[in-house]
Amino acid sequence: MSEKRDYYEVLGVQRNANADEIKKAYRKAAIKYHPDKNPGDKEAEEKFKEAAEAYDVLSNPDKRARYDQFGHAGMSGAAGGGFGGFSGGGFSMEDIFSQFGDIFGGRFGGGFGGFGGGGSRRVNRGSDIRVKVKLTLSEIANGTTKKLKISKTIACDKCGGSGAKDSNSYSTCSTCNGSGYVTRVENSFFGRVQTQSVCPTCGGTGKVITDKCDKCSGEGVMRGDEVVEIKIPAGVGEGMAVTVSGKGNAARHGGINGDLLVMIEEEHNPELVRDGNDLIHNLNLPLTTCILGGEVEVPTIDGRAKIKIAAGTHAGKVLRLRGKGLPDVNGYGRGDIMIVVDITIPDSLNKEERELVEKLSTMPHFKKAESVERQNIFERMKSFFR
Ligand SMILES: [Zn+2]
Ligand SMILES: [Zn+2]
Repeated sequence: MSEKRDYYEVLGVQRNANADEIKKAYRKAAIKYHPDKNPGDKEAEEKFKEAAEAYDVLSNPDKRARYDQFGHAGMSGAAGGGFGGFSGGGFSMEDIFSQFGDIFGGRFGGGFGGFGGGGSRRVNRGSDIRVKVKLTLSEIANGTTKKLKISKTIACDKCGGSGAKDSNSYSTCSTCNGSGYVTRVENSFFGRVQTQSVCPTCGGTGKVITDKCDKCSGEGVMRGDEVVEIKIPAGVGEGMAVTVSGKGNAARHGGINGDLLVMIEEEHNPELVRDGNDLIHNLNLPLTTCILGGEVEVPTIDGRAKIKIAAGTHAGKVLRLRGKGLPDVNGYGRGDIMIVVDITIPDSLNKEERELVEKLSTMPHFKKAESVERQNIFERMKSFFR
């Protein structure tokens, strides 16, 4: 996947451009690269989407400010995609067309397609594909790139998706005489009403195929595999989706590809349990370590760390490893690892141990065991769950 271009560069505007200039620049790009004007031209389609994404960010003051400060990384970034439910990227064609409402108003008709005008030219769109990806804690913490082989509908490799045998296999549509539209005049209660709609024969292209591609029988698509590289940003979580636009199923007759939706699953980690961006570890300590103090190893995301246990550590005490948790998916800092102390009591004792513990139980500091203040435990629990 190629690096994303600067949004200002995409729209060809200065960094201090005002809302009006940005809108104008986007309108120009959208008209130039519109799929109806460039049927089957993948490069134009990419440019079209790129411009729509740039406009989405630069036309929104909040997103623009974040972009100015952090660049693409600030847009919660998967290259070529974004998150379902998160701002930034992840544009489907539907998003783009719905955006047109504000840009072109109702006037975006005639010309080459009739959006919002009478009867819109329907662009074939391939269906979306959902895949699941299971990630380890380390992959979630650091972000990762996955290469997945996706079995799907791809453009026919013989005709390039057009469904035609070659460039001479077309003739002008006789229903609409090549205009792509049919005009109907009706007498109604309001008088004579003229409606223009997409030609049902050619679907608005103005051409019909005379000789079909023999490989795909004129459909323009075939089954195939594609290896897709998916960039997964740090901090994602179970149930989130990373959208890779244009990597879903190809559409018939050279339409627009669907999207690939990558559903995130977390691999179970028995030692570190996720709680938002924090990770919780239950640390079992021998009674003697809790009494005398010592140094113990605890798990971290990418290895282990040594921590000091103070003498007189109680069960339920929470030790915090600040900033050792998971990064926030939107870049707002990092969580902690919280070590919750538990005390291991031996199930059985040998003779010598029993004698020692019995002797210990008569000592002044151990006699008081029953008077451990419940209040303290309650306070500690509160501080943990706060
Ligand atoms: Zn074909
Ligand atoms: Zn026609």
